Amino acid sequence: RARNRTTAERDVDSVLHPYTNLIRHQEVGPLVITHGKGVKVFDEAGRDYFEGLAGLWCTSLGWGEERLVEAAAAQMRKLPFYHLFSHKTHDPAVELCERLLAMAPVPMSKVFLAGSGSEANDTALKLIRYRAHALGQPNKIKVIARDKAYHGVTVATAALTGLPNNHRSFGLPVDEVIRAACPHHYRFARPDESEEAYSSRLATELEAQILKEGPDTVAAFFAEPVMGAGGVIVPPAGYFPKIQAVLDKYDVLLVADEVICGFGRTGKMFGTETFGIRPDMMTLAKGLSSGYAPISALMVNQRVYGPVAEESGRIGVFGHGYTYGGHPVSAAVAVETLKIYAERDILAQVNAVAPVLQDGLAAFRGHPLVGETRGVGLIGAVELVADKASKAPFDAALGIGARVVAKAQAHGVILRAMGDTVAFAPPLIISAEEIRDLLRRFGQALDEAHGEITRA
Ligand code: PMP
Repeated sequence: RARNRTTAERDVDSVLHPYTNLIRHQEVGPLVITHGKGVKVFDEAGRDYFEGLAGLWCTSLGWGEERLVEAAAAQMRKLPFYHLFSHKTHDPAVELCERLLAMAPVPMSKVFLAGSGSEANDTALKLIRYRAHALGQPNKIKVIARDKAYHGVTVATAALTGLPNNHRSFGLPVDEVIRAACPHHYRFARPDESEEAYSSRLATELEAQILKEGPDTVAAFFAEPVMGAGGVIVPPAGYFPKIQAVLDKYDVLLVADEVICGFGRTGKMFGTETFGIRPDMMTLAKGLSSGYAPISALMVNQRVYGPVAEESGRIGVFGHGYTYGGHPVSAAVAVETLKIYAERDILAQVNAVAPVLQDGLAAFRGHPLVGETRGVGLIGAVELVADKASKAPFDAALGIGARVVAKAQAHGVILRAMGDTVAFAPPLIISAEEIRDLLRRFGQALDEAHGEITRA
């Protein structure tokens, strides 16, 4: 009875898979992953794959970390569920929030626990509105988010996300989103414009946008330190300090979405530290529990918490919270994850192997299909172009990014294409040798794709 059924015997059509062409997916069928070990996952045929994206930028400590399994099991036995509503709390939530406040790169006051990155960002949006009311500035609720940003897919956060596939065939009921430029030097800088000059121009453009909207209506700027799902966009030199100076001038909060960058991905504990950002709010998920249990956190400073507390006093309640926010099992796993990061000095590990990834990616710049490689720490990308000199993209119908990723999978590497950009974000525990092996296989995939399109 307990025998494993194969895909063919199972009703695989029962799962509605996100982020795929659902019609095409029915023809191709799913890849069924059964287990994982270290930086690899295994499918039901027993084939192993390097997880080049740590699941969805999630599994920083890799698969099979027994301490996390034990932490979950022990918490399951002790207190499998309790909530944080009203004045209730539980040990794992308190310990987690204390630890996060102690780790915060700038002084933070409070932590709100939720279940996903989307929920954390959604909560940030709501606090912005609370705060506006408390400060007697009910119109200061517009938020700026950048083109190609990814901040989630709830109805509100999808409005922040600057990728049209998230809401192309319907409108979204959050009008107060202002779209700022995506800071991608390779794609959008003027010829011969230095990174610093480009950053200055973007800051000037941002200031013009704020002035056009009216500074008394603009509340916050949302930013991923490195934009992940938009194609691993590393900010150009000087970008965040220049942007932050504009935000400070007009009393606009900065919300750092650290869902991907948090916990070592960029070589420092938080992306804000890598890029000189002073956030008023930070959202965390994914690496917070190494993906072993669903949990997210929103940290807020006193500038945010003070007015929100006042407002809740006035209306009688802070009317926001999720049943599963700060779930004790997830919180216990997150606490254990943070202990492991500290004990094993995850930052030293990341910085030891990051050059192997970054130099390895840079070595593909000579490849005929490659326009740009970029990255920092253990996040990186290769952007494929039809013409290296003009940077002209491939015809979308060719699906070159998806092709390369499919070929990489045949060579035992799971990667993700965002259009024609292939992203890399392996588990942080990956060894130099494993990175070399992964990149060698990716190189074979690139060569095969190149051979295919030059023959065609
Ligand atoms: N912010 C960023 C930067 C993300 O990458 C993601 C998820 N990829 C989210 C928010 C949303 O997180 P979730 O999928 O847990 O809702």
